[in-house]
Amino acid sequence: MNDKDKIYRFLFDNANIRGEITSISDVWQQMQTNHHYPEPIRRYLGEVVAASVLLSATLKFEGSMTIQASGDGALTLLVIECRNDFGVRGVAKYQEPLPEDTDIKSLLGDGNLIITIEQAKTQERYQGIVALEGNSIADFLEGYLERSEQLETRIFLAADELALGGLLLQQLPGQNEDDDSWERVTHLASTIKNEELLQLDAQEILHRLYHEEEVRLFDPESVYFKCSCSREKVTNMLRSISHQEASAIIKEQGNISVDCEFCGKTYQFDAVDIGSIYSEHGHTVDQSTKH
Ligand SMILES: [Zn+2]
Repeated sequence: MNDKDKIYRFLFDNANIRGEITSISDVWQQMQTNHHYPEPIRRYLGEVVAASVLLSATLKFEGSMTIQASGDGALTLLVIECRNDFGVRGVAKYQEPLPEDTDIKSLLGDGNLIITIEQAKTQERYQGIVALEGNSIADFLEGYLERSEQLETRIFLAADELALGGLLLQQLPGQNEDDDSWERVTHLASTIKNEELLQLDAQEILHRLYHEEEVRLFDPESVYFKCSCSREKVTNMLRSISHQEASAIIKEQGNISVDCEFCGKTYQFDAVDIGSIYSEHGHTVDQSTKH
């Protein structure tokens, strides 16, 4: 695969159809570095990662988009963040043993899928709930895009341990009703095999599917691993526990160590760090006992 960790946009010149195709490998392997996800947790996480890149190329925003699934089933949390420049990170949390039925709905149980878009400049936040209609992550997200964008959409996702692949097709307004190009293009796409989505270059896939169509392929953009964790964010999180609790951990373990679950980076805080975190906020033991 020559164009790994890339996303391409393309257009059908003779039809009002646009598409995106992505293949992700190094970034996906990096995401799994500190985790040993069992099948099919790994596959679902991978599918949502590929989908998040496709959606980031489809929805207009400047900032970040988060796809989060949570429920009372064995798959307790799936969270993927993708920025408009295709910096992506994600993590899954689950409880073992996994149930016998491992389709996505059984694994999630009574749960929901939420898409949150945060515009970086204005800090505006938009949140949409994805109906769990259908049997796959692609089904859920197709339905979401059709409702939110009012555009018919097809999504194809594939994931294995080493790579992810994704293909999105969207019908733009203005197509003639007697034109069957949408049916033809989506039917051809449905013949793509998972192995092809995972192993072939974007150009090879488009040629294999659409050599009889006029497809305009734009220059690709890179997908990269981006974790937005920082010592400052971890410090803010630590403020949510009491000074007494923090001091007790320091006494027992010598320091407080927090691992970022997305990138595995460790943030350490010793007694002096903890003292300054709480004194900044006026929550020192001395002050709190004066109340
Ligand atoms: Zn991190």
